[in-house]
Amino acid sequence: MSRPATAEVVVVGAGFAGLGAARTLADAGVETVVVDARDRLGGRAHTGHVAGRAIDLGAAWIHGLDGNPMTALASASGARLHRTHWHRPGDPATVVDPAGRRLDAAAFADGFGRFWTRLDEVYATGIEPDVSVTDALGPGRPLDPGSPGDAADGFRYAALVGLAEVEAADAEVLALGERVPDDRPGGDHLLLDGYSAVVAHLADGLDVRLEHPVEAIRPVSGGLEVLGGFGAIRASRVVLTAPVGVLRSGAIDLGGLLPDGIRHRLDRIGMGAAEKLVLAFDDPAWPLGTTNIAVVDTEPDDPFPAWIAHPNGPTLVSYAAGRRARSMAGRATDDLRSAAMATLRRALGDLDDPVDVVRTNWTTDPWSLGSYSYDGGPGAHRARREIADWRGDRLHLAGEAWWPEHHATTDGALSSGRAVANHILA
Ligand SMILES: Cc1cc2nc3c(=O)[nH]c(=O)nc-3n(C[C@H](O)[C@H](O)[C@H](O)COP(=O)(O)OP(=O)(O)OC[C@H]3O[C@@H](n4cnc5c(N)ncnc54)[C@H](O)[C@@H]3O)c2cc1C
Repeated sequence: MSRPATAEVVVVGAGFAGLGAARTLADAGVETVVVDARDRLGGRAHTGHVAGRAIDLGAAWIHGLDGNPMTALASASGARLHRTHWHRPGDPATVVDPAGRRLDAAAFADGFGRFWTRLDEVYATGIEPDVSVTDALGPGRPLDPGSPGDAADGFRYAALVGLAEVEAADAEVLALGERVPDDRPGGDHLLLDGYSAVVAHLADGLDVRLEHPVEAIRPVSGGLEVLGGFGAIRASRVVLTAPVGVLRSGAIDLGGLLPDGIRHRLDRIGMGAAEKLVLAFDDPAWPLGTTNIAVVDTEPDDPFPAWIAHPNGPTLVSYAAGRRARSMAGRATDDLRSAAMATLRRALGDLDDPVDVVRTNWTTDPWSLGSYSYDGGPGAHRARREIADWRGDRLHLAGEAWWPEHHATTDGALSSGRAVANHILA
């Protein structure tokens, strides 16, 4: 049976923003169709199965449970949460240099924590907001790691590896004044069954059409037409949730639907790079209970300075960001596995080969063209806010990038989608 080629609202994208918008609209009785280019739901929230273990290959954590709309949604879907810590004094982390020398994990964690406190202080005082994190890092500068030692190594690692992971961008392109401290309490939690289960719960009962890559959106009498190889779907309004990288690539021809001012502001938003390599083992060779494995002083494009020991183990997940992530593009999975195993064997000693390996390609994936957005340079955050506040007559933008306080998150995406839906309903 062919499906209707008209709807009141067409939502482009079945990630958290698109599904959040569609759920709100459909629950209010608005006839809504969701189209997505991929053959699966969830966009950048996608759970892989590595040696049969549920491992999130995109978004993995709920950052800050308290007051977070994702907490309620995850709970409604029956998600099981697992609290994690990131180099906190007392955590059983393994910290080594590239040669395998072990650092004192407590001192390292102390320096690691001191970095974030100092970064927030520098941001709050507004000193030199346009200075990059790299330029501010060093003895006598705003981000002073303190006396050489394992704590100073922790401070520098937080600046050059940790911050890059949070922002998916290198420290040299992140300006001190652009960071919005994330102060939502409640801790970081992994979803043991993965984000895809939450996505499936949100999408339940919606009219979602997969493998529908949208090529153009055009004005027609009384509304808009969404066009692609699948044909055309007409609607009064369209909610477009394609990621920043895709919007900027021009892959979706919007004609003149986006005003020039919005187009120009779009160019100021950075689209970051973050990639994972997941190695599943039969036996853990790392100390029981280890949470994180950090390798300090790696080359700037080495993709393997940071690992988490996943609770659905024994599984190690590396997290590479910025140029470290981009360096993975074009490398064969076998090559990445060998390089990763060489690093891990130096850090952990004897380690059997993994029984399964999965790598991500968010940076080159045509439906994401990057991992998540960041404020890349002076004025970027203001531009983000202005785009977020823009409300077209018939075309609306939603997505993680357009929720300025919590961009780059699943909950930011969800909130943005719901806000646009509520605007349409008002
Ligand atoms: C490696 C990685 C780790 C992350 N870790 C976390 C984390 O731990 N916690 C957290 O909160 N967030 C994390 N994030 C960020 C989080 O995944 C995103 O902010 C969020 O999922 C974005 O949702 P969205 O709906 O805005 O976009 P998306 O999920 O990207 O949805 C957009 C949809 O549009 C579709 N689309 C694109 N182009 C077209 C087209 N032409 N036609 C039709 N459909 C199209 C895509 O297929 C996609 O499904 C991570 C992201 C990555 C990549």
